[in-house]
Amino acid sequence: MRKGVILDRDGTIVDVVRDAETGTISAAFHPSHLRLLPGVIGGLRALAGAGYALGIATNQPGAAKGQLPREAIERTNAALVELLAAEGIAIASVATCLHHPEGGAGGDRTLVGPCDCRKPRPGLLFELVAELGLDPARSWMVGDTASDLDAAHAAGLRGGLVFDDRRCELCPLREGPRGLGPGDVSGRNLEAVAVAILAAG
Ligand SMILES: [Mg+2]
Ligand SMILES: [Zn+2]
Repeated sequence: MRKGVILDRDGTIVDVVRDAETGTISAAFHPSHLRLLPGVIGGLRALAGAGYALGIATNQPGAAKGQLPREAIERTNAALVELLAAEGIAIASVATCLHHPEGGAGGDRTLVGPCDCRKPRPGLLFELVAELGLDPARSWMVGDTASDLDAAHAAGLRGGLVFDDRRCELCPLREGPRGLGPGDVSGRNLEAVAVAILAAG
């Protein structure tokens, strides 16, 4: 079994999309929206270089909420994998939860309802652990919210938290890091988290 790092997408690898006119924030839903956050390339190269398989586990409820077609989500995920491949970083698999418990007007009804994969539930992580042949005891889930850490622990992984207290517009953690368990690590960007993971072993 291999060791691996499973990564959240939005706020961990890629930045959120800001609409300057309305001030609203959304997840990237087009390849042209993809902006890698600081430290991502260095952090992922360091992890891959140390032998960690890399996967992505992402909640994308936009199609269930009627905000965009699921093809837009799939196209954006594929473009992210290509973008990272161009930097020499191999993402072995992307696991996506397309569900939302309540959905929204015009949403795809087949995607609305409870599921086992929407983080903080661990379904996406179990899927990647099985697909990539990961050893949970040597593997990590890295994200930017307490929900990512809860999913990590529910799947028997250690958690890594990207927490930059100078970037608070998303504000899930503006009062400070939450959800860290024993053995977890945190850092102000993905490179700092990678350094901490490599130090922890
Ligand atoms: Mg996130
Ligand atoms: Zn789901």
